[in-house]
Amino acid sequence: MKLYIDYSTLTLWRLCPQKFIFNSKLNIQGGATDALNFGTLIHLGTELFGVASQNPSFELPTKEAAYQEIEALAVAKQVPDVRLVTNPLLKVLNQVAEEASQYALSNLDSDEKRSLKHALTLIAEYTFHYHPDALPYRGFEHKFEIFLGKTAAGHEVFYRGTIDGLLVDGVLERKTSYDLTAFLGLLTPNYQAVGYVWAAREITGNNKISKVIFDGISTKGFGKSKGSAYSNQDRWTIYNAPETLFLRAQTVVTDSQIEDWKTQTIKDADRLLEDWKAEKVTRNAPSACNAYNTNCAYKAICMSGSKSVEQTLINGMPKQKDIWDGFEVVED
Ligand code: SF4
Repeated sequence: MKLYIDYSTLTLWRLCPQKFIFNSKLNIQGGATDALNFGTLIHLGTELFGVASQNPSFELPTKEAAYQEIEALAVAKQVPDVRLVTNPLLKVLNQVAEEASQYALSNLDSDEKRSLKHALTLIAEYTFHYHPDALPYRGFEHKFEIFLGKTAAGHEVFYRGTIDGLLVDGVLERKTSYDLTAFLGLLTPNYQAVGYVWAAREITGNNKISKVIFDGISTKGFGKSKGSAYSNQDRWTIYNAPETLFLRAQTVVTDSQIEDWKTQTIKDADRLLEDWKAEKVTRNAPSACNAYNTNCAYKAICMSGSKSVEQTLINGMPKQKDIWDGFEVVED
């Protein structure tokens, strides 16, 4: 058997094997929330900006021009014609608005937390904050699939992922997070960082690579909550102190961390495959059900208390349409 695995799927399985089965085997939609889509837009915008800014002729517009474009895009509520835009940053904002038109959040009022306007404002402020970026980039959004090793049971394991920024001497990984202080606490040790440094070494052939820069982008403290009547624009961080929403933290991955990570990942691969084939798997309730301050999207199924109700709920839940291809099992 061949197992193609990525960091997200491993993390999901480690959190709760049942959640992994619902998500990656039964393919049940795990809740495409506004918060998730908001994060996707920020990721897309910062990536497009990174690529565009490598062009020597890249020039930022004035802040005034950027904010005028954001207002226009937020009000228009229609798919923009990206071809008509020439300034690189304004083009990025239009591309993000184009992507957002598929998401429910594009219909949110512009003063709500996860609105298109706030996504575009955060992206624009990020570009003004980090341009010109002195980091030595080799590329952006570098997709990889690399043979990791064979498990004790004889399965071949391939590790997949996308490195946000491949640097000459390391990797850059972007994270959107509500709270940048909490985000700092998650960085050392960090399995994702170790796996990406290993991948960067394999991709480049440079075994000296060890640096990881976590590019933290905070969504804290701006906009009103969905449905809330109250908003006070003067107090929104994005308008009064945008620089506090960005933080880059550096960490270093050692050779022994990489060896431990490889051993653990290959060992987990066998256990994950056993769960994949099993009729019944572990449910890590209640500890996993509210992980990361979010209610698990499958809670109603797990709480139903009867096999038949459970099956009815499973049948009634929407299937995922846009499936990330990080995980795959191929029978020999
Ligand atoms: S509700 Fe809890 S037990 Fe059920 S899948 Fe989600 S995390 Fe696992």
